[in-house]
Amino acid sequence: MDLLITDELLALGEQARAVGRAAAQELDVREDSWLIGTSREFSLELATRGWLGMTWPVDVGGGGRSPLERTVVFEALIGEGAPVATSWFADRQIGPTLLQYGTDAQRRQWLPEIISGTSAWCIGMSEPDAGSDVAALRTRAERRGDEWVVTGQKVWTSGAADADWCYLVARTDPDAPPHQGLSEFVLDMRSPGVEVRPIVDATGNAHFCEVHLSEVRVPADRLVGAETESFRQIMRQMEHERGGIDRLVSNRRLYLDVLPLADRGDPRVRQRIAAIESGYRIGRHMILREVVGQAPAGWSAVTKTLCTEFEQRVAEFCGTVVGAEAMLANRVSRNLCYAPAYTIMGGTTLILRNIIGDRMLGLPREPAAR
Ligand SMILES: Cc1cc2nc3c(=O)[nH]c(=O)nc-3n(C[C@H](O)[C@H](O)[C@H](O)COP(=O)(O)OP(=O)(O)OC[C@H]3O[C@@H](n4cnc5c(N)ncnc54)[C@H](O)[C@@H]3O)c2cc1C
Repeated sequence: MDLLITDELLALGEQARAVGRAAAQELDVREDSWLIGTSREFSLELATRGWLGMTWPVDVGGGGRSPLERTVVFEALIGEGAPVATSWFADRQIGPTLLQYGTDAQRRQWLPEIISGTSAWCIGMSEPDAGSDVAALRTRAERRGDEWVVTGQKVWTSGAADADWCYLVARTDPDAPPHQGLSEFVLDMRSPGVEVRPIVDATGNAHFCEVHLSEVRVPADRLVGAETESFRQIMRQMEHERGGIDRLVSNRRLYLDVLPLADRGDPRVRQRIAAIESGYRIGRHMILREVVGQAPAGWSAVTKTLCTEFEQRVAEFCGTVVGAEAMLANRVSRNLCYAPAYTIMGGTTLILRNIIGDRMLGLPREPAAR
């Protein structure tokens, strides 16, 4: 891998680390801050520093900076537990999707508010009977004049209760084969007919929600990309969602806080520390390979699998270090309860291993049972 980490890049990382540390110091929980750390105020600070839309073209208001700079900034911010969740989905994948598939008018409408940190977005993909199998989704969008009328239900929609906009996938052609009848829309979360019901997870947090949609009217010009072409567009969006630094650093701060308590006199503990330290570096290199554009197609499946399984090992390690204290309500026990989610959200590890085996390695499929 041809990778140049300059002094400027290291200094940028240090600057972001200090900003992240200051932003996180008042928080009880610093883990998973890209998902549960909501703060409209901190979004504005990110915008002021030019850290939203960092890599987007200057002519749309972006920073025109390198993907490596963005990665270094967010590795430091999320690694410290800074509350970036309010702007994260938009910065990570909605903006890039609008840049790739949106119209000029759509880019003019939504990119400035993402870059200025004034809007929050959620992603309405999963449904009660359509998670791994996106093609099974049933939320229906029906064209009536200048509008689409949307009815259905989404689930596990992170940040929906605070969101201004939802990037929604819905079925527009019920007669087409499952993969071919889906389209994408930007839905105003304040539209009549939108009902958000937060779901409390095993940690007591309620960042994700059910979203019920009942005859919600969406102006026709809020369809993104080509009608019925969503499946192809989603696959591109998933590359943004799966392959980034957020998949490695969710509980980095917890690990660093727990590490001084570890009994380094015990060789078994030293081995686990060595495995985590090397795991972090390997994961980081995998991500950087994608970031600098030197990874093969589909690489994000590999990265997400490796990095999220690593995050689970970090949670286990922290639990082992604090011992019985992991049975009390604290950051370690919260992270242990939360860790199974790492390999579910954004595509489960089983699905990703299928992608790696099937599409990347071309391994033979097991013959169907007779
Ligand atoms: C913390 C969190 C946040 C989330 N946020 C969002 C969000 O903001 N927006 C959104 O749209 N969704 C979100 N999700 C949903 C997430 O994308 C789905 O949970 C995930 O895709 C799995 O779908 P499912 O839960 O329906 O499980 P299922 O698809 O029902 O899978 C159940 C089990 O079967 C296995 N399985 C299924 N199909 C296969 C197969 N073909 N081969 C092998 N094994 C298989 C899976 O690996 C899994 O173990 C979030 C989930 C979590 C945990």
